[in-house]
Amino acid sequence: MQSIRFSALDGLALAAKPKSDKVDKKITELFSSHVFSGRVMREHLSDEAFKSLQTSIKAGTKIERKMADQIATGMKEWAMKKGVTHFTHWFQPLTGATAEKHDTFFTVKSDGTPLEIFDGDALVQQEPDASSFPSGGLRATFEARGYTAWDPSSPAFIMDMGVGRTLCIPTIFVSYNGESLDYKAPLLKAISALDKAAVEVCNYFDKNVTKVISTLGWEQEYFVIDESLSNARPDLIMCGRTVVGHAPAKGQQLEDHYFGSIPERVYAFMRDYEDEAYKLGIPLRTRHNEVAPAQFECAPVFEEVNLAVDHNLLLMDLMTKIAKRHRLRVLFHEKPFAGINGSGKHNNWSMATDTGVNLLAPGKTPKTNLMFLTFFINTIKAVHDYSDLLRASIASPGNDFRLGANEAPPAIISIFTGKYLANVLSEIENRVDHKFDEQDEAILKLDLHRHIPELLLDNTDRNRTSPFAFTGNKFEFRAVGSSANCASAMTTLDSIVAKTLVQFKNDVDALIEKGEKKEIAILQVLRKYTVESKNILFEGNNYSEEWTKEAAKRQLPNVKTTPLALDVLASKKAKAVFVEGGIFTDKELEARHEILLEDYIKKVQIEARVIGDLCTNTVLPAAIHYLNNLTQNIAGLKSIGLSEESYATQKNIAVKISEHINTIGKNVEAMIGERKVANKIEHTRDRALAYCDKVRPYFETIRYHADKLEFLVEDRSWTLPKYRELLFLR
Ligand code: ADP
Ligand code: MG
Repeated sequence: MQSIRFSALDGLALAAKPKSDKVDKKITELFSSHVFSGRVMREHLSDEAFKSLQTSIKAGTKIERKMADQIATGMKEWAMKKGVTHFTHWFQPLTGATAEKHDTFFTVKSDGTPLEIFDGDALVQQEPDASSFPSGGLRATFEARGYTAWDPSSPAFIMDMGVGRTLCIPTIFVSYNGESLDYKAPLLKAISALDKAAVEVCNYFDKNVTKVISTLGWEQEYFVIDESLSNARPDLIMCGRTVVGHAPAKGQQLEDHYFGSIPERVYAFMRDYEDEAYKLGIPLRTRHNEVAPAQFECAPVFEEVNLAVDHNLLLMDLMTKIAKRHRLRVLFHEKPFAGINGSGKHNNWSMATDTGVNLLAPGKTPKTNLMFLTFFINTIKAVHDYSDLLRASIASPGNDFRLGANEAPPAIISIFTGKYLANVLSEIENRVDHKFDEQDEAILKLDLHRHIPELLLDNTDRNRTSPFAFTGNKFEFRAVGSSANCASAMTTLDSIVAKTLVQFKNDVDALIEKGEKKEIAILQVLRKYTVESKNILFEGNNYSEEWTKEAAKRQLPNVKTTPLALDVLASKKAKAVFVEGGIFTDKELEARHEILLEDYIKKVQIEARVIGDLCTNTVLPAAIHYLNNLTQNIAGLKSIGLSEESYATQKNIAVKISEHINTIGKNVEAMIGERKVANKIEHTRDRALAYCDKVRPYFETIRYHADKLEFLVEDRSWTLPKYRELLFLR
């Protein structure tokens, strides 16, 4: 029988025909056509309901029941006109994916009259059967209820699913006692903490500012491979990454993919998911090939962070579904292929005022320069003081492969500012000994506005290796994993910047109370913060050995694995930021730590099982099969009286194969043993550490020998699609 690998390869020629029945529509015609946007709201809501909803969105306040009924009716009307039959509360549980439970508008009255109903209750709150989502002990088994509650700051949208259309209502997900069980609830709290703290600081410079939002523009990297080939790989199906696979003769060294044109089949897929994304109001701008073969990237125009997070998750979901239509598979895993670049999700982040100012864009006047420097330096100070929290926010088993693998930002968090700003910072620092006076206005008179964008937008002053880089008018947090929910990183970033700004305001006010002039007080505190945070600044190559050494000298944390990176969540420091900041309660923080450890354990456990199964069922049988051929051949040659010399090559291969077989066998046994030991460990952190330090090291060893076998065994006996096929055929 032909193996699944070869049937997949045979089918490739058919699958590769891109669909060409696409009718071009202007993006502006598609854009937001499936979104209950401001314009649609105005059309379908009474003035009263519209105003009430707008107020709630702006102020984050609750919507009255009466209004909720009106809004629900308007929403239903709009949705039904578009052929919607069902609605769902769409939420982001801590499993990483998004969740939905569909209900129909349809109901039957007691007298048998069929009706379509969607009332305020159904819009505002639902109780999904939530007992199987992770809660970290927050939902005792006797109280398994969880509630989803409408987040009016992210608009409702219509999702096309095959033949059906569903009205999706973005919601938070909380337990019976109101504890958050998702990513969105804490993000909304962090956004509001930052808003409050930043407005107060803005008011030093401009009394008209009443709201500050944080903005996020993500850049999503991903791999695209043929679906049938992917289906022939149990590891890709179960883990989203390959656990074995010999390096192809050609990898990414030619960089021909990066500069090359997008393959036609992938292009058709992109066009398709982009159209669906536009309908949902996701403002995609950019698409291109990435460095690795079969790797791509897309990026939208930035948006308010809550909406940007929702849009990223929606897009990942869309891409996964639409890839199937093209018989393709999208891989969001951080490291699907060993020896080939992994995928990240750069989070471009800034803050903007309701007066239309980007707080991280250098100003045109001394006053706006000082405002820019204030937010710039406070962000640096926040990242410096809480780099461990930031590291924890991006920790995942997938990202462990990537951080520090000399192709992605290292696990050491540092900040790149660019030469010009580094000079400005050191000028500020050098005034350490004497008090700021009028002559220091010179610093503010520097033409930041002209120089920084010019210098940074020019690629020569860009540092692609930095995990946290200033890029002219925003910071780019590059260490976020490609499969991650950005909410985790953004919640932490907003929270630590909020915390730092509160501190800043206190420090400045204290000086003003002592009689210092406002601008001078601000400069004094900025100088102090600059000196205190200097350690985190690094302009050089983050991939280099020297940096690791230098960072150790500076005592910057370099935590390489998830279980250890998460330790900080149990610290006083985490409480000071998250509990005092109103982002998490003590219990929620503990629960989150527990959930993340459990997630780590489960993922490593699954990989260990897959490796064991794959070796036992697939790798070893292929090797043994070929070994039988070799030994038969040797025996045959011997039987006709040939000398040992005539079958030396066969014997040599046979010896090697049987050695690798044995080593794999032994290591798989030992790995299973360690897994059994680990499973018995009660304490979650210890169990996670056991999986990390005792189980996981076997992955590399086993893989090494399996890859040797792939190299030695005849091609037609090898049933797993090879790297060259996964990465280069499409
Ligand atoms: P690149 O970094 O690849 O050169 P850009 O600098 O144009 O690309 O932008 C990358 C991403 O940064 C885009 O998604 C863009 O929308 C986003 N971005 C630009 N300005 C801001 C901002 N003020 N806040 C957040 N994201 C931003
Ligand atoms: Mg970028």
